[in-house]
Amino acid sequence: MRTTGQYDIVLLSAWIIAMEGDTGKMRVMVTGGTGLVGKAIEKVLQDEGGAREGEEWIFLSSKDANLMDVAETRAVFQKHRPTHVIHLAAMVGGLFKNMTHNLSFWRNNLHINDNVLQTAHEFGVLKVVSCLSTCIFPDKTTYPIDETMIHSGPPHESNFGYAYAKRMIDVHNRAYFKQYGRKYTAVIPTNVFGPHDNFNIEDGHVLPGLIQKTYIAQREGTSLQVWGSGRPRRQFIYSHDLARLFVWVLREYNEVEPIILSVGEEDEVSIKEAADAVVEALEFKGEVVYDKSKADGQFKKTASNAKLRKYLPDFTFTPFHKAIKETCDWFVANYDIARK
Ligand code: NAP
Ligand code: GDP
Repeated sequence: MRTTGQYDIVLLSAWIIAMEGDTGKMRVMVTGGTGLVGKAIEKVLQDEGGAREGEEWIFLSSKDANLMDVAETRAVFQKHRPTHVIHLAAMVGGLFKNMTHNLSFWRNNLHINDNVLQTAHEFGVLKVVSCLSTCIFPDKTTYPIDETMIHSGPPHESNFGYAYAKRMIDVHNRAYFKQYGRKYTAVIPTNVFGPHDNFNIEDGHVLPGLIQKTYIAQREGTSLQVWGSGRPRRQFIYSHDLARLFVWVLREYNEVEPIILSVGEEDEVSIKEAADAVVEALEFKGEVVYDKSKADGQFKKTASNAKLRKYLPDFTFTPFHKAIKETCDWFVANYDIARK
């Protein structure tokens, strides 16, 4: 429940934000700004020479506000009065964490997304770019997957909690547009990796997990255990490339419909090829063992980047092996502070 005074503050904030929007000023608040993707956006802006004139960027962590809590969400919007939001904050994990925590992924992400989008609407935020994932697409489908297919069938059972919560962002965005004319949109990245990833072996995604496992196997002279058969296929995107695309979407992309941000279909690799790339980058000389007792998850989720290519035909992605090497080097150099 909010009091009349609190409504006045919200309305005043919405009015100020609308005025700033008219002058072209952008105050961008990035939820989940301390994670893999948030840190990459911060780096890309630094590489550009800092924020553009008229832009101010604020990167939030969960310490600034627990976005599962509506009061904390409103307080952080009140504090920063963003005109634009990049919404990254989420409960995130690899296949094995998803398999055991479907309920938490569903509930936590649903709460975070509803709080962020509704509060953005109430405060008059002009644009929100949220983050979906290609694992939310139907499991039984035709390939390549494209943006029109999000709701065309159930997702893979391993991560249905996360997938349905993420799909609902698209429902939010279309409904805010229909009912209020809001231009809230979403991007759909494939598997992301890079510096500042979560390198936890049990909870994280395949590449950071393999990087830490290889590092330990190298140090202890043991074998590298790759989980599953190594046959599933993935399109990996380097976090720095994704960050450049995120900034473009924020500044230039005006559709409510989501857009897939991915390398081409021809750049899809098997888990074995990904493991080989890590082994090469860390110069691991030991034995590599495939533990077939562990799950493979979804076999593939090959996505089309044709829509992206229509907008940005000349965008260049960092070559996979170069990006893997940079990530491994970052992990080794930052071993003490890396999330693991
Ligand atoms: P990440 O490294 O795990 O970072 C998650 C971020 O969310 C952190 O900044 C974390 O804050 C914040 N956060 C988590 N729970 C929160 C809460 N209750 N309240 C406020 N903030 C909270 O994740 P990421 O890989 O950068 O993912 C960013 C986005 O990309 C997510 O929406 C994810 O679903 C999407 N995505 C990721 C991948 C991938 O392969 N990683 C692929 C496709 C899409 P603290 O640092 O304070 O904990
Ligand atoms: P997904 O792409 O959403 O399925 O999530 P992941 O990034 O966790 O990738 C899972 C795929 O990598 C499955 O085929 C796993 O069997 C395989 N894999 C191999 N080794 C590992 C590992 O150490 N960690 C994880 N998370 N997956 C691994």
